[in-house]
Amino acid sequence: MDDRKRIALIAHDNRKLDLLDWARFNRGTLEDHELFATGTTGGLVEDALGLPVQRFLSGPLGGDQQVGAGIAEGRLDIVIFFWDPLQPQPHDVDVKALLRIAVVHDCPIACNRATADFLLSSPLLREPYQRMTDALQPLETAVA
Ligand code: PGA
Repeated sequence: MDDRKRIALIAHDNRKLDLLDWARFNRGTLEDHELFATGTTGGLVEDALGLPVQRFLSGPLGGDQQVGAGIAEGRLDIVIFFWDPLQPQPHDVDVKALLRIAVVHDCPIACNRATADFLLSSPLLREPYQRMTDALQPLETAVA
């Protein structure tokens, strides 16, 4: 990934205020990167920050899967995903799929505010970085 990162933002309804507060606090950093988001989250972030946000569909309508496809196809570098740990979601299977595909592709994904803070303040945010996408090969292949 490049020094300018393509960052996807997603927040479930009960986490949207938290994500907006975090995004406002980090506006100065976020403006140096390219922002993407699921539908509703994207509209809120765009209004709050006054920065362009490329919007996918709303999460329950396929937006989480679009973010997953973006990771798999190398079109997204980082995901900030404030999912709700206290409420079941209609698209729980999509949420699980997104978390899985992020791990498969060694994509940095922050699921709470502290992790998002650590991620955004990392020096690697402003440097090129090579993901270890072949790290999941079976042991017998790895040692052969
Ligand atoms: P939303 O989707 O940004 O459209 O609300 C988020 C989600 O529920 O995954």
